[in-house]
Amino acid sequence: SPVLFWFRQDLRLDDNPALRAAIDTGQPVVPVFVLDDVTPGDMAYGSASRWWLHKSLDSLGEQLKSAGSTLVLRRGDAKEIIPKLVQEIGASQVFWNRRYAKWQVEADKALKKSLEDDEIRVTSCNGRLLYEPWDIETKSGGPYRVFTPFWKALKSQGNVRDTVTAIRKIDGPSRYPATDTLSDWALLPTKPNWAKGFEEVWEPGEKGAMSALRNFLDGPVDSYKDDRNRPDRNGTSRLSPHLHFGEISPVQIWHLVRNKISAGEVPDSQGDVFLSEIAWREFSYSLIYFNPEMHKKELMEKFRDFPWEHSEKKLEAWKKGQTGYPIVDAGMRQLWREGWMHNRIRMVVGSFLVKHLLLDWRDGMMWFWDTLVDADEANNTASWQWIAGCGADAAPYFRIFNPMTQGERFDPDGDYVRKYVEELRDLPAKHIHTPWDAPKDVLKKAGVELGRTYPEPMVDHKQARQNALDAYQSIK
Ligand code: FAD
Repeated sequence: SPVLFWFRQDLRLDDNPALRAAIDTGQPVVPVFVLDDVTPGDMAYGSASRWWLHKSLDSLGEQLKSAGSTLVLRRGDAKEIIPKLVQEIGASQVFWNRRYAKWQVEADKALKKSLEDDEIRVTSCNGRLLYEPWDIETKSGGPYRVFTPFWKALKSQGNVRDTVTAIRKIDGPSRYPATDTLSDWALLPTKPNWAKGFEEVWEPGEKGAMSALRNFLDGPVDSYKDDRNRPDRNGTSRLSPHLHFGEISPVQIWHLVRNKISAGEVPDSQGDVFLSEIAWREFSYSLIYFNPEMHKKELMEKFRDFPWEHSEKKLEAWKKGQTGYPIVDAGMRQLWREGWMHNRIRMVVGSFLVKHLLLDWRDGMMWFWDTLVDADEANNTASWQWIAGCGADAAPYFRIFNPMTQGERFDPDGDYVRKYVEELRDLPAKHIHTPWDAPKDVLKKAGVELGRTYPEPMVDHKQARQNALDAYQSIK
């Protein structure tokens, strides 16, 4: 009898352990993807993720077609849809790769139990991480709360598993069950189409993922250690959405990078820093797995009494990139235009929201959730807590990013600001991160009128810094 393979965050045919296991049964395989907006609650796909999902499923559907199979699309509550489909096709087994956020773990456990009660065998595999969160423990047992020892422990685990061979052909049943039509799901924006800028920078799908990795390994990796902090350069891999949707696995990345290092094609010092970022992702997954309330509650207990402010007006200025701080506004506008933001600038805008504006990190996290194409339950949650100073191994709260010096240091010529904050395009580098200090004639020549063509700073840096420190004193 046929077996069911449930695609979730593993939209690929290469190195897909659970799909490989389904095929290895020798039975016809029915692959399904379920658009479930019920089970995740707040963590349902955000708008930018929906755009990506559409494109990625479209590409996966084509790949499956070439492999002689058909992707079955269904929409609704997975705990009802999967058993119904199992019954429809008379499946004896179900296969999936594991997930790690609280709602996912709970949903998968419950579904597994109900399927097994009906004598359906469920096989789950690790297709998302180098190691399972429970495989990396401190010497005294339990998870790590600090990254460096976690990274050491990860490296001392021994060999990362081999990649699973790519799938070229999938035998299916003589008749596939009915499928929804992808376009009926209306995942793409229409009026207005705010995703036009996405098309210019992204190629969702497995092929796009591999070419992003190859492009990165063909050049940028050689100077990754320095350039990874430069938003004005093309210094990082841009693999994050591909990794989030599982169009590529960290295991594939690990082996490709390691092989290039061994062959002398990538400097060890640079490749190793890149792999340590892949390990930060593993660390985030370990954190959310062992702290399932982390998307709601600060890991550090004392922060649960922090006097966060709630101001729609301030939040709106931040979201729209109208804070009057050029590097912050450039980041927020990059996010809006491309569905992605450079890591250094994510830290700058995150710190600005939490410390300069004293707004709740959860408000920032949810905006990122809606607007990032790489919105990821583990990385987003862990990174927001890190920047807010309330998470594991966090930047101390009282270390407050100075948006002017961050800009001057990491975007020294102002190219990044110029690209996204067009109204400042003609300002010379010397003044681009501090337009309020520029002489009047310089502003005039550049066509900048503060408060009219570009906002005045919405808060005074020194004062905001002091307010943040005072707020911190109140919980210390
Ligand atoms: P590269 O530098 O090429 O790194 C390769 C991969 O390593 C990334 O794709 C990512 O999977 C992982 N990685 C890199 N940096 C980190 C990090 N600090 N923490 C965890 N994993 C990392 N990343 C997401 O994938 N999804 C998110 O929702 C997300 N939200 C963030 C929110 C804030 C406030 C901050 C400060 C960071 C966030 N990050 C998030 C982490 C990081 O900014 C992105 O992973 C990175 O910018 C993606 O670009 P890249 O693929 O070119 O990274």
